[in-house]
Amino acid sequence: MQRTIAENLAGVRGRIAEAARRAGRQADEVTLVAVTKYVGAEAARALVSLGCQDLGESRPQTLWPKAESLRGSPVRWHMIGHLQRNKVKRTLPLVDCIHSADSVRLLDTLEEEARNLDRAIRVLLEVNVSGDVEKHGFARDEVFALAPRLADWPHVEIRGLMAMSGRWSGPEAARSEFARLRHLRDAMRANGPAHIDLGCLSMGMSDDFELAVEEGATLVRIGSALFEGVPE
Ligand SMILES: *Cc1c(COP(=O)(O)O)cnc(C)c1O
Repeated sequence: MQRTIAENLAGVRGRIAEAARRAGRQADEVTLVAVTKYVGAEAARALVSLGCQDLGESRPQTLWPKAESLRGSPVRWHMIGHLQRNKVKRTLPLVDCIHSADSVRLLDTLEEEARNLDRAIRVLLEVNVSGDVEKHGFARDEVFALAPRLADWPHVEIRGLMAMSGRWSGPEAARSEFARLRHLRDAMRANGPAHIDLGCLSMGMSDDFELAVEEGATLVRIGSALFEGVPE
């Protein structure tokens, strides 16, 4: 299993580097978040031993036990899926970054819990760029309206935006959705507090991460491409 994952990881890293090169970017501007939701703790541990320390989970209930079994290894956990407010208290102490802040009420809850823990939490605002009804995330005008308020949650460090391309989008549509997220980020920067750094764009998954890197992704969230050929 370790060898298969090592080969997949090298392949993905190579493709990220190629895409960055095509766009005139450096490969190290892009952080690979390995999404471990399809695999167990053993495969996650294999990734860490291969130098991939940013791991992502989309459901708190699967994040909790995995974080527990990898406790002590140098992992930065990323919460990348919908986070219900009643799961914030248990999730916050385990994670480095939450990619999926999708409501003002969730930001309020994150602020409250981070303040209780006396720490700051890095957060990205999820935007529903494709308009798919089954997707979470702020609508574009909703998130844009938050720009002047980005410093209103002192324990929540809003670092940028996250999106998924539409389920039915082909590559050209996906590319324009990623470009749209970048433009939205630029517009929010221009309208937001000067000291807030919206440097992060979390976009791109196994099927479309090269397009996302070409369009400016700084975080790609990749699952299936890393675990091809690995038994569940
Ligand atoms: C599962 C998931 C991913 C990774 O998807 P793959 O297509 O397997 O790479 C990325 N982001 C989110 C939010 C996910 O839920």
